[in-house]
Amino acid sequence: MQIVLSDHARLLALVGLCGLLWLLETIIPLYRYQHSRVRHAIPNVALAVMLVLTNLALSFASAYLAGFTIHNGVGLFTLLALPPWSRALLGIVGLDLFAYFAHVMLHKSWLGWQFHRVHHSESAVDVTTTFRQHPGETLWRILWQLAAILVFGIPLWVVIVYLILSSLNAQMEHANINMNRSLDRLLRLLIVTPHMHKVHHSQDQRETDSNYSNIFSFWDRGFRTYLGELDFRKLRYGLDGFDVKERQTLRGLLKMPFTNYTQS
Ligand SMILES: [Zn+2]
Repeated sequence: MQIVLSDHARLLALVGLCGLLWLLETIIPLYRYQHSRVRHAIPNVALAVMLVLTNLALSFASAYLAGFTIHNGVGLFTLLALPPWSRALLGIVGLDLFAYFAHVMLHKSWLGWQFHRVHHSESAVDVTTTFRQHPGETLWRILWQLAAILVFGIPLWVVIVYLILSSLNAQMEHANINMNRSLDRLLRLLIVTPHMHKVHHSQDQRETDSNYSNIFSFWDRGFRTYLGELDFRKLRYGLDGFDVKERQTLRGLLKMPFTNYTQS
């Protein structure tokens, strides 16, 4: 019951922030796109429904594993006599480290990239791009989340807090908003900001292979994958040759990992 309520609260926060960012994209857009925003959002919203359903369907696995590690003293953090708040903080950091690895592997492995390019084939990044994720990628990310729970021994409530923070920040990162540069630079000392993540969506391979962090920006700095702000007048999103209409429909996006498209 507690998990069901948490899921509802999470969904509500997610939809609420999405609406707010959608409004901000109208008022202070980073780019003024020519297309209809609603039409552009349709496949992304359909993928969002799949994303939520896949996560809900597999939430029992996180609940089971979190309970198992705590009751059986499995995981690095269970070996340390930590107060609850520091254990929660470490749990959040641990989950975010594994999210970083999951993302890097999506880029560095051939199979991972077949799925992850659904997300990167977006040529007009906005808040709805957050949910543009193939169910295969969702499954991959859940597996890494389970691995983090097992390795560190993270209580379920910490996993839920992490997922809320992660989904809220992911929406911020993708929103097509023109952030105040000074505020963006200040925030990115700790977290991934909209301008920092936009670099990762560039068509330029060197820029795509940077800024993988999920919530905390220090992973990119620590693993030397950090790339600072770009000239947004020169930045082009998406993947070369993937703008054709049939690849951008829901059907095209779901088929993408299983289709041998050549990327120039
Ligand atoms: Zn990526």
